[in-house]
Amino acid sequence: MITVTDDTTPATTPRFSDLALGEPLQRALQEKNYTIPSPIQAQTIPHLLEGRDLIGIAQTGTGKTAAFALPILHRFAAHPRRLSPKRPRALILAPTRELAIQIGQSFAAYGKHLKLSHLTVFGGVNINPQIHALQRGIDILIATPGRLMDLASQRCVSFEDVEVFVLDEADRMLDMGFINDVRKIVSRLPSQRQSLLFSATMPPAIQELAASMVRNPQRVEVTPAATTVERIEQQVCHVEHGQKRAALAHFIHAHPEGLVLVFVRMKHMANKLVEQLGKDGIRAEAIHGNKSQAARQRALENFRTGRSRVLVATDIAARGIDVKGISLVLQHDLPEEPESYVHRIGRTARAGKEGKAIAFCGPDERHLLRDVQRTIRQTVPVLEGLPFCSVVSAETLERDSSPRSGSQGGGRFGFRPARRGNQPPAHGRSGSRFGRGGIDRR
Ligand code: AMP
Repeated sequence: MITVTDDTTPATTPRFSDLALGEPLQRALQEKNYTIPSPIQAQTIPHLLEGRDLIGIAQTGTGKTAAFALPILHRFAAHPRRLSPKRPRALILAPTRELAIQIGQSFAAYGKHLKLSHLTVFGGVNINPQIHALQRGIDILIATPGRLMDLASQRCVSFEDVEVFVLDEADRMLDMGFINDVRKIVSRLPSQRQSLLFSATMPPAIQELAASMVRNPQRVEVTPAATTVERIEQQVCHVEHGQKRAALAHFIHAHPEGLVLVFVRMKHMANKLVEQLGKDGIRAEAIHGNKSQAARQRALENFRTGRSRVLVATDIAARGIDVKGISLVLQHDLPEEPESYVHRIGRTARAGKEGKAIAFCGPDERHLLRDVQRTIRQTVPVLEGLPFCSVVSAETLERDSSPRSGSQGGGRFGFRPARRGNQPPAHGRSGSRFGRGGIDRR
């Protein structure tokens, strides 16, 4: 059973000093000038200290690393154990080497006054130093799945002593094709353990994995700040599928200033659109899970510098993109998961700027539009009067949305719906660097 935490505004904002974290951790936090826990930290740390399992729906930038690192460090410091070769007590799985390195750095920073050891392992580098470090024994192992499987198959690491397991960015693991490796690793873990799963979205494959991985979890969701969404001018354009290309070119041409981010549901569609846009005289690049890390970084750099004014992305590849100057977000396809709509439009209107978001809705996507509107609790204004815009009556919309009825509010997976614009953000922390999360800082 999944427990949904109550995230109503507490009477007082908690401080790190109110949390039952040991003195060496408090000192490290003070040295980093962290006084106020972010919403995900405030909501999870007390439960994690009690040993609860967790499903955290949160992106990078919400403070999720400290949310799991601090309780792990506290627990191991309170119950020290002699190091045994090859047998870490905590295992953290991350999809990319960049994220793994970042997590390792967080453990180093928060644990600087403790005598606990950690090691970060990933592919593409010599495996031997990693084997030697494991042989010497470490408390906390941070790994990408491929290299961990290599090390496990060479019997250089054993999972027998794992007390805490963290799966970070689970949906990105799926997108990058690591899900089977992850399943294999999970199947080898001891059944007595604490398990944490973080994911920005919860597609069915991740829900299944979560169900097999966690027991009686606490569930915490951190959604993007309402204030961000308020500044975005949203519109929906009903359009036949055959007209989407013309619509895309129209909006990009009609928007000569600023960067344009285009979202698609499928990877192959991203490539196809780049090709089509090229024929329409628009230089664009694609970024999705089938592209190498180097190709993604190149595309991102070209976009950031304005060399390509248009970037076409899938949801998960767009994670972590914090590019200033995106003034238009186009959704070529509506997302299967209504929460993604909010993450997508949140790519514009950054740093106090205004932004515009236009979503295309094909005839077979009307139920998705209904899900989005229920989740954001707003009706998105309909754009009319352009040659490719279809006029759809309220009755037609209602009829076409009905086959998938039954998800009243709360989204399809029982997510907490986005707040209305005039409601205060949870914890009354508007203007904090975290808002209600979802804002990437990488
Ligand atoms: P993360 O989502 O874990 O990648 O964290 C995002 C950024 O916020 C990182 O640079 C953290 O060091 C920083 N951070 C995490 N927790 C806090 C906090 N409570 N106060 C201020 N900064 C924080």
